[in-house]
Amino acid sequence: MPIHSPWRADFPGILALAAEGQTYLDSAATAQKPQAMLDALLGYYAGGAANVHRAQHLPGERATRAFEATRASLAAWLNAAEPSQIIFTRGATEAFNLLAYGLEHCFQAGDEIVISALEHHANLLPWQQLALRRQLKLVVLPLDNSGLIDLEHAAQLIGPRCKLLTLSQLSNVLGGWQPLSPLLALAKAQGALTVVDGAQGVVHGRHDVQTLGCDFYIGSSHKLYGPDGVGLLYGRTAALQQLAHWQFGGEMLLQTSYHSARFRDAPLGFEAGTPPIASVIALGASLAYLAGLDADAVATHEARLHAQLLSGLQQRQGVRLLGAPQVALASFVVDGVHNADLAHLLTEQGIAVRAGHHCAMPLLQSLGLSGAIRVSLGLYNDSSDLERFFTALDQALELLR
Ligand code: PLP
Repeated sequence: MPIHSPWRADFPGILALAAEGQTYLDSAATAQKPQAMLDALLGYYAGGAANVHRAQHLPGERATRAFEATRASLAAWLNAAEPSQIIFTRGATEAFNLLAYGLEHCFQAGDEIVISALEHHANLLPWQQLALRRQLKLVVLPLDNSGLIDLEHAAQLIGPRCKLLTLSQLSNVLGGWQPLSPLLALAKAQGALTVVDGAQGVVHGRHDVQTLGCDFYIGSSHKLYGPDGVGLLYGRTAALQQLAHWQFGGEMLLQTSYHSARFRDAPLGFEAGTPPIASVIALGASLAYLAGLDADAVATHEARLHAQLLSGLQQRQGVRLLGAPQVALASFVVDGVHNADLAHLLTEQGIAVRAGHHCAMPLLQSLGLSGAIRVSLGLYNDSSDLERFFTALDQALELLR
């Protein structure tokens, strides 16, 4: 049965790519943008750009109001207690680095940081490097056969030296929702801080950070149908108070002399220099667009399309799915076929999917793979995209096998 996206026409990028013969199935890497976001981006520049939080003049005041409105929208989107719990960074990756530097003073040699085997490099390398700087131990939670963190092992590995647990909510490779509640509870029982990588999770459904109960939650604007160059870091107020300042410059300070300074609290104390003003304002427009959609209709559309993707892959001989994806994406390999060769033939047929290690090299290594193909869906995709993908896949496999 054909599945149409009622929102496709709202995304000029997907229409432009289609007109060029490109089928875009790489939204987990970055999503196409709604017209409302493009209008907001242009509107800010065309209406007169101004810096935020410093100018007394009208354009400056207007820009500051719009910028802060996005902070309030994000707080509402995540059900944070207050807008001041949202820090804008220049990407999810920068948010992890902020935490790894900002919390460095909380660790002593021998302390443990616990991650899982499927973390994106953004939620691995900042901690790995912190562990190397401070002689900490990085503990890696293993996965079960469906690609979820094994709770029995986790209970054994999250011990009294655990000072921080940081986990992906939804894997960008395996597409499974992690059992965060019991895992965060294990860490909290040891008095550890908890971080959730919501870069993929925040895009699908609505998540309530207070119910989740994590100390920090990280997301990425460009995956959430917003512009690139913006990340979000939510922190519980008490957790934010533990952060040491890490980037220094304009607007993050209360007072300075040549030889010493006093800094602002979060959020502004962690937003040194001119932020990505236009992008933050435009992210607000993306959120307003998303908030205006029927959330149930979006979830149903995503689920139906995902089921079609999975059944199409499962029907093809020799295609092996990684993990047990639950939403929005599926990664796979084909017996006897190199993923780079397959990716090349798909690209030649105008199919935009991702191939390689997906910024999770240790995960792929642990699965004995050098790479995999990932198909990922946005709310603008429909079944005609999947049909074109499967036709191209069949042709490519006929050539390669
Ligand atoms: N975490 C996950 C699970 C991701 O998928 C990504 C991006 O692919 C990131 C973190 C990093 O996001 P960004 O590249 O926007 O900083």
